[in-house]
Amino acid sequence: MNERFEQRLMQVQVRRDIKTLGDFTAIYCRGNHADRTRRAFASDAADLGAYGRKPPVVCDECAEHLRYGEKRRAYCPKDPKPFCAHCDTHCYKADESEWQRQMMRYSGPRSALHGYAIAGIRHAMEARTWRREMERRAAETSDGTTTGNDAAR
Ligand SMILES: [Zn+2]
Repeated sequence: MNERFEQRLMQVQVRRDIKTLGDFTAIYCRGNHADRTRRAFASDAADLGAYGRKPPVVCDECAEHLRYGEKRRAYCPKDPKPFCAHCDTHCYKADESEWQRQMMRYSGPRSALHGYAIAGIRHAMEARTWRREMERRAAETSDGTTTGNDAAR
């Protein structure tokens, strides 16, 4: 396993975000891929205990997306991590980004019903905070220039 990945996974914030991503992916998979073979998710983050003792149960396709997402989260160069939807660094490949968007759209509203109320509420609050922050910044810099963090990756 990559040493940097392991170090990142020591951070509470990183583990929490990855756990949430796993919970949301499991809700999505259960709702959309009930006809597929689904099993306990295996990955580097799972090995490091990011999902606790009960890793999310997902199909192979969702597992691939989730493995991609946990790496992106672990290697996010920004601290604190901005809310992904409002970040100026597009670290996700376009198709992964689209998959995650529609997955979150499905799972976000359902997360409370599945016992992930706290994760769901926190997610919604973070989204609102970031929307406000972006609006504030947009009001300050009307020319829309960004800080050019893409180069820092
Ligand atoms: Zn699935």
